[in-house]
Amino acid sequence: MSQRKPYVGGNWKMNTNRNTAAELARGVVDGLRDVSNVDVAVFPPFPYLLAVRAILRDRSSSIKLGAQDCYHKPDGAFTGEVSIEMLKDCGVEVILCGHSERRHVLGETDAVVNEKLRAVLDGGLEAILCVGETLDERIAGHTDPVNQRQVRAALSDVTGDQISRVTIAYEPVWAIGTGKTATPEDAQDVQAKIRKLIAGMYGADTAERMRIMYGGSVKPSNASELFKGTDIDGGLIGGASLKVSEFAPIVRAASAVARGQA
Ligand code: PEP
Repeated sequence: MSQRKPYVGGNWKMNTNRNTAAELARGVVDGLRDVSNVDVAVFPPFPYLLAVRAILRDRSSSIKLGAQDCYHKPDGAFTGEVSIEMLKDCGVEVILCGHSERRHVLGETDAVVNEKLRAVLDGGLEAILCVGETLDERIAGHTDPVNQRQVRAALSDVTGDQISRVTIAYEPVWAIGTGKTATPEDAQDVQAKIRKLIAGMYGADTAERMRIMYGGSVKPSNASELFKGTDIDGGLIGGASLKVSEFAPIVRAASAVARGQA
């Protein structure tokens, strides 16, 4: 068991509406009120950020408000984009960078992910940097080089002071939303190598402190086994974060593993 506090994020993606987002936020807050040894964040769609923020505030919740994306420029003629300052204004504390759907569906390159990540950190917020290989890359034996390339590229020009606000989420693309999960051994293996890479880039102490989440079809039934990996510090949850009855047990699994009771 590591000394790192587990971190579990719920990425709601382009799901929910005004009513269901509020209902889900209330359910998550009320359902996890007694869990204090796990950091939890929720990532609602942009239009519902303020409503979710109001619920978190009204209930004095420590759950963090997250955004699924951002644009790296501070302001200007960028139709449809949302700046870091706008997100801060809405109470956002943490922003996802490089989620596989942004990379593979919406065409974000390593360079774009790096620009966004640096803007998030320059803006004083926390980032969750998502990396992961596709199925073809895994079959070709390129899992480690792909993840290492994505980590190195995203962290280019990220300073030693800023890195403490970065969490990495290892999310094999073939496991996201597919019901297929990396085995705990495979996830642990990749994540240990990512930590080693961070040690080479920022030193052993920074690597030891950095939280590395696993993401990809985490469910209440597999969360505990995954979170027992010594380099797996919680999870980024997509589909299962849309139901309190699934998200809360996943957070509780992280809590139990951290207490050595899983
Ligand atoms: C995700 O969106 O980051 C994710 C891991 O999705 P899912 O849990 O649905 O695979």
